[in-house]
Amino acid sequence: MNPDNIRIVLVNTSHPGNIGGVARAMKNMGLERLVLVAPKDYPSEQANWRAVSAIDVLKSAVVVPTLDEAIQDCQFVVGTSARERRIPWPLLDARSCAERIASASSSEQVAVLFGREDRGLTNDELKVCNLHLNIPTAEAYSSLNLAMAVQIVAYELKMQSAATDSPTDAQEQWDTPFASMENMERFYVHLEETLTDIEFLDPTAPRQLMSRLRRLYSRVRLDEMELNILRGILTETQKWVQRGQDQESDGPYT
Ligand code: SAH
Repeated sequence: MNPDNIRIVLVNTSHPGNIGGVARAMKNMGLERLVLVAPKDYPSEQANWRAVSAIDVLKSAVVVPTLDEAIQDCQFVVGTSARERRIPWPLLDARSCAERIASASSSEQVAVLFGREDRGLTNDELKVCNLHLNIPTAEAYSSLNLAMAVQIVAYELKMQSAATDSPTDAQEQWDTPFASMENMERFYVHLEETLTDIEFLDPTAPRQLMSRLRRLYSRVRLDEMELNILRGILTETQKWVQRGQDQESDGPYT
C-alpha cells in the first residue's frame, strides 16, 4: 500500500467543520491528500478549528471546481454511499474495499469519493466509480456523519497498511498500465457517438445503455493498450458509416 497515491475527495461539502474533521481523521490514520470539489463554505475558521493538529492536511488540500478535475489522473475510483444499493454496481463493505484500495495504491492513483451531507453522491457521480463502498450500519439509520465515514475508511486503510505490498496487487501482475479516468471518459464519449452513428443508440430514448456499458468496462478495468484498440475500432466503424453515407448521397451508379 502507498498512502501517497490515495486521495480523499469531498464533493460539495456544506459544513466547513466537516472538512476540518476529515483532515483530522485522515492525519490520524496516515493519509495526507485531500481534494475539495466546490466546497460551499471554504476556507473557514471552523474548518481550521476542527482540524486541530491536522492543519497541514487542510493547508495542502487542493480545491477544484469539478469532480472530473479531481480524478482525471486516477486509475481506480471508489464511491462511498450510505444506501446499500442506490444503483446496481459492484459493492463492498469498508474492510473488503480497503483491501482493494490498498492493493491498487501500490502502483495506481486512487480516489475515494465522499458525498454531500444532505444527499450524498449523485447517480452520475457514482457511475464514474469502479467500485462502491458501503459502511454497514443499523438498518434504522444508515447515514453517518461525513467525517466519521472518512474516519472508518481511513482506519480500515491503516489496518491494511501493515500488509505491505500485497501479492494480490492487480497492477503488479499486469504488463500495461490501467487506463486513467480521463481516457475512460473520452472513450465513453467516443463510444456513445459511434453507437449513435450506427443507430444502435437512439439519443431520444437512450434507456440505460451507457450506464450498463460503463458498468461493464469499469468491472473489467481496461489497460491503456486495450483502450487504444477499442478506440481504433470505433474510429474505423465511424469511417465505414461515413463512407456509406457518402455513397448514398452520390446515388447508386453515377
Ligand atoms: N443522505 C445521504 C447521506 C450523506 S452522508 C445519502 O443518503 O446518501 C455524507 C457522506 O458520508 C456520504 O455521501 C458518504 O460519502 C458518506 N457516508 C455516510 N454514511 C455512509 C455509509 N453508511 N457508508 C458509506 N459512506 C457513508
